[in-house]
Amino acid sequence: MKQTHSLSVLNRLAESYVKLVLAVGQHDADYVDAFYGPEAWKTEAGTSKIALETIKKKAVATVAELRTVAPARLDETLRLRHQYLLRQLQALHARVELLSGRTMTFDEESHALYDAVAPAYAEDHFKAILQELSGFLPGSGTVAERYEKFKSAFIIPGEKVDAVFAAAINESRRRTKERILLPDNESFVVEYVTGKSWSGYNWYKGNSHSLIQVNTDLPIYIDRAIDLASHEGYPGHHVYNALLERHLVREKKWIEFTVYPLFSPQSLIAEGTANYGIEMAYPENERIAFERDVLFPAAGLDGSKAGHYYRIHATFLKLNYAGNEAARKYLNGEISREEAARWLTEYALMAPGRALQRTKFFDQYRSYVINYNLGQDIVKRYLESRGGTPDKPEKRWREFEALLSTPRVPSGLTG
Ligand SMILES: [Zn+2]
Repeated sequence: MKQTHSLSVLNRLAESYVKLVLAVGQHDADYVDAFYGPEAWKTEAGTSKIALETIKKKAVATVAELRTVAPARLDETLRLRHQYLLRQLQALHARVELLSGRTMTFDEESHALYDAVAPAYAEDHFKAILQELSGFLPGSGTVAERYEKFKSAFIIPGEKVDAVFAAAINESRRRTKERILLPDNESFVVEYVTGKSWSGYNWYKGNSHSLIQVNTDLPIYIDRAIDLASHEGYPGHHVYNALLERHLVREKKWIEFTVYPLFSPQSLIAEGTANYGIEMAYPENERIAFERDVLFPAAGLDGSKAGHYYRIHATFLKLNYAGNEAARKYLNGEISREEAARWLTEYALMAPGRALQRTKFFDQYRSYVINYNLGQDIVKRYLESRGGTPDKPEKRWREFEALLSTPRVPSGLTG
């Protein structure tokens, strides 16, 4: 009886949450990443255009009412739902405060919006990795220059990009379908765009359909094919959204999953699972074999170099927290854009053009950057703590699918 009552309260508050997200979207063009709930709610948000101050009050009231529901009375799934709504609403409140002019440090912001704080690394940490990388890269010049020169032999020629991506997407779909039952009608389309601060984007449209956009402003290296196919597609964002839709929206009628606010804890789960999904779908040796036999030839590259390329790439990936440090210092006002770009070139080995593009990503998405690498680490630790280690692929996929099919927030995975 009590649980039935709580369920109707949660359903009502979930509706308030969706409407609040749509209301924030009127003030922040990047906020509503996906919405496939009632069209009338969207129209209503557009016509009423509620003021930020009012949204804030409504969010506070909704959180207060949510707190009157005692989690102890709920079963596990509803407890997760309750925790999810609470954290998502708190993050919405924080985003409204930021939009209203409040300032936060990088770490305060990431905690408020994404329910997590990224570890800090000193320059020595990255210098040691650069030293290791230096041994692989012949020639003279800085590690960044030598790395750039090395990588220039692994660019996918423009006219071959689409064919290479199509091959990577087919293989990622095949591998994911062996492990996860996907909706029969799932599909996505790929579109090539320019002038964006990101390199790829998944726009979920509902009804198991996504639009995946690929930015072609900068050269596309061969490693992007599988990264993009798995991160944006299988078993990444496209699969995550399709499973949430099937299990939570269609089966349980949980309306809150018809909307996806970008600046919220859900993004850490989304980016973390999308990044971790790459190695789920392609354990190291299997990836190298597929690259060597299929993708390198499709790109007109020498397949015999795939092993060497990915050994160096694996060392390069250890630098992935360097981007967070640049963003943290830049957004905290400690360094200028030029200094941030220089840091990215030196420690994240981004060519100057790419480094500049990345600082624009910092402007637009701010502490969102932690969702990729910290998210990946949190997901990995969570799966492993539940027995989903790389040597037990069956178990790992089961835990991964469960994670993609239930309401989760970062603190719920680490706590
Ligand atoms: Zn992503």
